[in-house]
Amino acid sequence: MQCLRCQGLLIAVQMRDMGQPLVAGWRCLLCGAMTDPGIEANRAGHDPPIRNRARVPGSPVMRLGKGGMR
Ligand SMILES: [Zn+2]
Repeated sequence: MQCLRCQGLLIAVQMRDMGQPLVAGWRCLLCGAMTDPGIEANRAGHDPPIRNRARVPGSPVMRLGKGGMR
């Protein structure tokens, strides 16, 4: 099985979510990406994330209008 992000080698791992029993999952040896059957199911049911809409927490808000870009 290959990593979806970097095509690296995935190894089987046991993961534990909060309050959940152990779940068999996968971890990439190269980039450390974790995945499990639940994540895969979510990924299949949604559009991929739109990265350029992401906001960095704590970053200043862009102010447009008076006194803006000159
Ligand atoms: Zn990877």
